[in-house]
Amino acid sequence: MNSTNWSGNYTYLAPRSAAPRSAEELAELVGTAERVRIAGTGHSFNGIADSPDLRLSTEAMPTRIEVDPERRVVSVAGPVRFRELTEHLHARGWALANLASLLDLSVVGALCTGTHGSGSRLRGLASAVRELEILTASGEVRVLREGDAEFAGAVIGLGALGVVTRVELAVEPAFEITQHLYESLPWPGVVEHAAELLATAYSVSLFTGFNEDVLRQCLVKERPDRPHDADLLARLGARPVAGQRHPVAGGPAENVTEQGSPGPWHERLPHFRGGRIPSTGAEIQSEYLVPLDRAGEAIEGLRAAAPAFAHLLLVAELRSVAADELWLSGAWRRDALAIHFTWHRDQAGVEAALPAVEAALPDPRPHWGKVWAMPPDVLAERYPKLPDFRDLARRWDPRGRFRNDFLDEHVFGA
Ligand SMILES: Cc1cc2nc3c(=O)[nH]c(=O)nc-3n(C[C@H](O)[C@H](O)[C@H](O)COP(=O)(O)OP(=O)(O)OC[C@H]3O[C@@H](n4cnc5c(N)ncnc54)[C@H](O)[C@@H]3O)c2cc1C
Repeated sequence: MNSTNWSGNYTYLAPRSAAPRSAEELAELVGTAERVRIAGTGHSFNGIADSPDLRLSTEAMPTRIEVDPERRVVSVAGPVRFRELTEHLHARGWALANLASLLDLSVVGALCTGTHGSGSRLRGLASAVRELEILTASGEVRVLREGDAEFAGAVIGLGALGVVTRVELAVEPAFEITQHLYESLPWPGVVEHAAELLATAYSVSLFTGFNEDVLRQCLVKERPDRPHDADLLARLGARPVAGQRHPVAGGPAENVTEQGSPGPWHERLPHFRGGRIPSTGAEIQSEYLVPLDRAGEAIEGLRAAAPAFAHLLLVAELRSVAADELWLSGAWRRDALAIHFTWHRDQAGVEAALPAVEAALPDPRPHWGKVWAMPPDVLAERYPKLPDFRDLARRWDPRGRFRNDFLDEHVFGA
């Protein structure tokens, strides 16, 4: 098991680790540990996946992926990554509605932290969950279905409720996507029409450094049944670009998924190609979800605050996420603008700059897998269902077997 996370900005402190090979071994290890956490693929930028005692990898457990075409769901068990899942689905003519920027993430790890893609009509990835199977601290395996009282609290569960051993996700018929890239959008139009711009296609991402004269890139991911509004982009002064571009200035264009030609959903919705370094590697990420109807205010706030953080920034990405009902979702009960920051890997510098970023944003909810600065009492104000989640976790795990320092500090305020 890796001793650091993917980017190397966090070193796991767990004194023990193990890799069970069966459900029985897993249950036995969970049942005898003082404290236990499950490792995903280590793509989070904080200590969320760490443990003060035992860290378990599910890598050696059997995997199962099974599509039920009648119910339009796929059942996923074991250490499955999105790469394996999407290839399995596509080969059978099925698709997930949306994806994150890369396919290397474990499915369960991504769901646990509220991972999302972009799309004004698309909710976060956890909104695809229809059923959830969890091995709890008592050793009982619980199954929650959409509509069950605790379902909305458990789906984005931060690993605090137990080991997620199986999930069922909604699927739809496979579709094609074409990526169109535009550059150099003057700021006034972006500020005034941000929500419209993000709604111009199935999925849209805006890339910027916030301190440039114009918005660097607008990446449009279009479905054939929903052409993007090229007139809107022309009116906003966007310049269409032929050929590939990396979102980080000077980054290798061959590492990004193909732009300009149609292709399968799972080869176009992620920004980064398989087998290549996604993003930049030596980096730290932060992300905040703010109300979409305050997008202009957020962008102007960050443009004004840029002198406090732009020297640390490799690139920022603006995406939209549709409202959902999941308690710990950044888009809980509000359409959201997700503002992502890829920072140089300068932990102290980033931590020093984050208060200025957060002060510039209206009602920001930080992404659970990334780095933020706001103290726990402020975080609890941002996530109104956090007290309910605490109660849920205490009911399911009264002894705190699945707790770690990260949860104690940020969720339980211990
Ligand atoms: C290059 C890069 C690009 C990214 N792009 C995006 C993006 O486009 N959108 C976005 O929203 N985020 C993005 N992220 C963040 C990423 O999606 C989250 O950090 C995600 O949680 C990482 O998944 P993981 O499998 O690596 O989980 P880990 O970081 O290993 O773990 C995350 C959490 O899941 C828990 N967990 C894992 N498996 C289980 C299980 N079986 N049962 C119970 N708990 C479990 C862990 O204990 C931990 O609490 C990106 C990160 C990187 C490094």
